[in-house]
Amino acid sequence: MTSEHVRQPLIAVSACLLGQPVRYDGASKPDPYVLSVLAKSARLIAICPEMAIGLGVPRAKIEIVQTHDRRRVLGVDNRALDVTAALRECARQFLRDNPRLSGLVLKSASPSCGTNDTPVFDLAGNEIGHGSGGFAQTIMALRPDLPVIDENALAGRARSFLEKCRCHCA
Ligand code: SF4
Repeated sequence: MTSEHVRQPLIAVSACLLGQPVRYDGASKPDPYVLSVLAKSARLIAICPEMAIGLGVPRAKIEIVQTHDRRRVLGVDNRALDVTAALRECARQFLRDNPRLSGLVLKSASPSCGTNDTPVFDLAGNEIGHGSGGFAQTIMALRPDLPVIDENALAGRARSFLEKCRCHCA
């Protein structure tokens, strides 16, 4: 590893944006900007929270659900599948495992990775608003200082995002 490499920010990226086949149906969502531009300016590490909590591929779809007292991440077809706590613990462990993390690029509209634009449903399945995914919400709550952005916003704000990430470099 070169000294230049060491100085680059360490940025976690949703694994599907890096082209890994980890989506619920085994597909990926490679993001050209992340792969071509960001990869030259930062050290990238992949994280798929849903794989990390053992859901595997293929897996049942999950979504954010507003229950009586709080938001949870539940199965679309099986409301008994509740991965809220698992995603929260995954985020805690990820921060413990990566104390030198500089920032995150997370997949938009995901019930795990989305940052404020993920659809929220009521128990009957009606869309009632938007929020953050279970993993992303915990990361942002525990480390509000860390820059977090989704792939849609990244292309237009890459320069300022990278500057913020460099502030977290050791
Ligand atoms: S959006 Fe997040 S949880 Fe979903 S496949 Fe991509 S990395 Fe995994």
